[in-house]
Amino acid sequence: MKRIAIVGAGFGGLQAAFGLERLFRGNAEYEVTLIGEVNYFMFTPLLPQVASSYINPRHIVQPVRDIRGRRRFRFLRERVEAVELDARRLRLAGGSFDYDYLILAPGSTTDYFGIPGARENTLDYKTLEDGVTLRERILDLCEHADHTTDRAERAGILTVVVVGGGYTGVELIAEMRDFFYQYVLRRFRGIRKEDVRLVILEAAPAILRSVHPSLAQHAVERLSAGGVEIRTGAKVTRCLPDGIEIGESEFLPAHTVVWAAGVRAHPLVEALPGAHDRIGRAVVNEHLQLEGHPEVFVVGDSAAPANALDAPRIAPVAIEQGNLAARNVAHLERGEPLESYAYADRGSLVELGMNYAVVNVFGIRFRGYLAWLFWNAIHLLKLVGFKKQVQVAFDWVLATVFPRDAASVRRVRGCPLCEGKVRATEAVRSAKAG
Ligand SMILES: Cc1cc2nc3c(=O)[nH]c(=O)nc-3n(C[C@H](O)[C@H](O)[C@H](O)COP(=O)(O)OP(=O)(O)OC[C@H]3O[C@@H](n4cnc5c(N)ncnc54)[C@H](O)[C@@H]3O)c2cc1C
Repeated sequence: MKRIAIVGAGFGGLQAAFGLERLFRGNAEYEVTLIGEVNYFMFTPLLPQVASSYINPRHIVQPVRDIRGRRRFRFLRERVEAVELDARRLRLAGGSFDYDYLILAPGSTTDYFGIPGARENTLDYKTLEDGVTLRERILDLCEHADHTTDRAERAGILTVVVVGGGYTGVELIAEMRDFFYQYVLRRFRGIRKEDVRLVILEAAPAILRSVHPSLAQHAVERLSAGGVEIRTGAKVTRCLPDGIEIGESEFLPAHTVVWAAGVRAHPLVEALPGAHDRIGRAVVNEHLQLEGHPEVFVVGDSAAPANALDAPRIAPVAIEQGNLAARNVAHLERGEPLESYAYADRGSLVELGMNYAVVNVFGIRFRGYLAWLFWNAIHLLKLVGFKKQVQVAFDWVLATVFPRDAASVRRVRGCPLCEGKVRATEAVRSAKAG
């Protein structure tokens, strides 16, 4: 019996499992095992809507066992600690797993670029827990701001900064805007529009650099008109508990700073021998195989195919690579020539809050409400499982009729305000004085 292990039940890993299932259907000679540290698959494109209470966090995740249905592959909920390439063994948090073939799809981690305090003092936005944490923190801060009489302090509490003007940063700030303007300002009587400050900081000269420039420009105009401050060429140099330093000179007081600025390869992949690119992704050949280890494939966010180094870190790329890796495992077993990966840009979709999006598909560019409906349709279609599609569709419809479901469900840890430690730091004091 040959054992095929897949690490990571995200876009790439799940697709590889589906592919192998199809290719080895009914063949008891092969055992396919999908290993994931969480027992669900998360649809990341909808994560920004969790923070704004637009959709229910549970609706964007689905248990792997439900997705699997009647398929034969095994699922193992385990954390993979290391890959022992020569022994063809995975070291797990609770044991080990021997394989004949390995498909690595563990996604990516956040890159803080070594900026002092960034890891400790900003919020990450990658996991479901990150989404829920940000949602809870915003709700909690609004509760505090609502009865804070000091206007300057209220403004600091209600300043949300997103560092990074890529897809995630832009969609997140747009969601924050909707949440504050459509919900908070109507429900919290002590909060006024001028108290709320939403800022996006981007070190590069423009935001949304992977989107067509005309759509990116339109996004800038739309967000700015909606009250979002967009600051380009703004390099964060230090992060403090009460705000961030920009360009080593300016201090921006903010109680909530979300880090959506950098992505690095997963540590499991960074630790592999062989060539890596500047963000630690394993440079694999055009068949997605690791140098010197034809039995190991790397796909998704942590893979850098030598013939497509510029392929973006997005879900369609991971899905395609997951499928290709599965087919190439089957080709190896059957003694057939391997297939090569080729990246094709199919366009981009960016939601700019409720009722508005910018879209570029196969060279056709449009924006506005129609684009938003298109964005919704595509994401609903891509969501795995009919139940989830119904749940998310209902969330969207209900949000057009009823207020957002903004009940706080847990106490946030690590929020200085919630723990009664509201103390203006020297930095905030000097900013106020200035
Ligand atoms: C907030 C956000 C919004 C996004 N929006 C979009 C979008 O709109 N469109 C788009 O195309 N892309 C979007 N992306 C990017 C997209 O999610 C990724 O490109 C895609 O998920 C990469 O797929 P993957 O299979 O490489 O990794 P993932 O889908 O991240 O899957 C990795 C899996 O591996 C598991 N794992 C990690 N470490 C271990 C371990 N040690 N042991 C076991 N399991 C492990 C993780 O739990 C996870 O389930 C977004 C990403 C984020 C964070």
